[in-house]
Amino acid sequence: MTNQPSASSQLTPVTVIGLGPMGLALAGALLERGHPTTVWNRTPERADRLVTRGAHRAGTVAEAVSASPVTIMCLKDYATMYAISASAGDALKGRVLVNLNSGTPQEAHAAVGWAAERGADYLDGAIMVPPPLVGRPESVFLYSGPRDVFDRHRTTLESMGGPRYLGSDPSLAVLYNAALLGMMYATMNGFLHATALVGSAGVSAVTFADLALDWFVPSVVNPTLIAQAPELDSGHYPGDIGTMEMNLSALEHITRTSVEQGVHSDQPRLMRTIAERAIAEGHGGENYLAVFEVFKQASP
Ligand code: NAP
Repeated sequence: MTNQPSASSQLTPVTVIGLGPMGLALAGALLERGHPTTVWNRTPERADRLVTRGAHRAGTVAEAVSASPVTIMCLKDYATMYAISASAGDALKGRVLVNLNSGTPQEAHAAVGWAAERGADYLDGAIMVPPPLVGRPESVFLYSGPRDVFDRHRTTLESMGGPRYLGSDPSLAVLYNAALLGMMYATMNGFLHATALVGSAGVSAVTFADLALDWFVPSVVNPTLIAQAPELDSGHYPGDIGTMEMNLSALEHITRTSVEQGVHSDQPRLMRTIAERAIAEGHGGENYLAVFEVFKQASP
């Protein structure tokens, strides 16, 4: 039974399919904003708290999709979306499907054709925040696909977070997602390895974070990358204030220091290998950012 505030009649009804931690947060944010909200999940009990807040629990996927002009899918992956939609018949016809499952660019392209066969308008998306931050305007949700579909439903998308449209290529949202998550893991590993290094001398993570995260990253790393981003686009890496050869020597020192201190050394070894490859390809006299030329190629 639904129990919506009267303002909800102004807002687009939305269906959320998939009530893991993220789907629960999405449905909760939509309810909070006042959207008439229908939910479906393989394990129906996960909807219990949403139902007490006014959500409608659909008995089938077809019923769920038919209840709203917009359906949000938030499942484990694209394969799960296809599997659970098999029983939905033509329920998606004439409706909008917003796919927030994690996937790959090829999966996103394939989903466009799948949605078109079912007569649905399709937006692909990626959520860049954990569930507790859903619903805040500063929480970025990435979208790609037809601009008109995004524009028409922007207000609804805003109920879940800050929507950012990346372009009509449907794969852009999941591609950005992989890029940003890859950067997040590399950054975290960089800090964790560095903290293990100073930790080998008894320095605490809290003490090191003060210098590494409060000063080094914002004052040295970020401005350097921002200033040099145009050189990545132009493929111009002047080595006048530091060459790849010099950086290889720094990476050699980090590797040897790791070994001396009894700390895992695979990470600096990998960075050293990449710098060596850049030198082998003729970038020894250029600055370190020329490793970008290595990253742009498939692994050997
Ligand atoms: P999840 O474990 O990735 O997905 C759980 C959902 O998938 C549940 O609704 C689950 O149903 C359903 N599911 C799994 N296998 C199924 C199957 N064979 N048939 C039917 N339903 C199935 O949990 P999540 O954290 O909510 O993530 C959902 C999506 O959001 C994922 O693609 C994830 O990558 C993305 N995401 C998550 C976060 C995060 O911090 N959690 C952040 C950004 C993006 P049951 O409840 O019945 O098991």
